[in-house]
Amino acid sequence: MAGTKTGKAGKFAGKGILFVISAPSGAGKTTLCHKLLKKMPGLRLSVSYTTREPRKGEANDVDYTFVTKRKFMGMIERGEFAEWATVHGNLYGTSMKRLKKLTAEGYDIILDIDTHGAMQLKSNYENAVYIFILPPSIDALEKRLVNRKTESEDTIARRLDNAKTEIASYRNYDYIIINDRLDKAYRELESIIIATKLRTENADHKWIKNLTN
Ligand code: ADP
Ligand code: 5GP
Repeated sequence: MAGTKTGKAGKFAGKGILFVISAPSGAGKTTLCHKLLKKMPGLRLSVSYTTREPRKGEANDVDYTFVTKRKFMGMIERGEFAEWATVHGNLYGTSMKRLKKLTAEGYDIILDIDTHGAMQLKSNYENAVYIFILPPSIDALEKRLVNRKTESEDTIARRLDNAKTEIASYRNYDYIIINDRLDKAYRELESIIIATKLRTENADHKWIKNLTN
């Protein structure tokens, strides 16, 4: 289920660029995003709200802000989310206030969100860059989820089941990366970010004008 009651995402358009990343669970987007955040100082992660239980090693307000369903529903009612969705049985949402704050500070933002959330955002904010990460095969996806040891057998089965529907929406994205070898996938992701930042529309026009004044 995707969110229906959201605020006007277009209003948070500040200076920063939004990079929206989706992938089936286990494809490697958290690994890739963390690598990117370490290497690119101008980039920040949009920390989502979720009703899912924290995994071992996950910190509140760092990986997610973990909240009760009641609190999450209140936020929906007040229109505090730029997008939200039910994913693999839990609620996840992007806070409009957090996005506004980071873009106003001039940061570029990585949003690790599911395909429904990405499409909600697209209807309000088409200037974001939409990136889809694929696993090399469904077998590899399963192996990665099993090896990660963070989910029960049931949850893994549910996530693999959802993978097929998620992959079907790849055409809605601007870029596709196959995460077979991590170093190659990382280089490709970094290239997309760098090339986007070098686009004329994202240049510092004031600085260029000053060159000739
Ligand atoms: P997601 O965030 O998409 O659910 P993760 O980043 O948690 O996926 O990755 C799932 C598991 O696969 C992790 O244990 C991670 O270390 C591993 N992994 C990520 N990329 C690769 C890769 N290219 N080859 C092998 N294992 C990988
Ligand atoms: P996980 O539970 O593995 O951390 O994430 C499960 C799924 O929820 C992933 O596909 C992830 O991209 C998605 N997700 C995480 N945060 C958000 C969010 O704020 N909004 C939406 N729509 N999906 C999210």
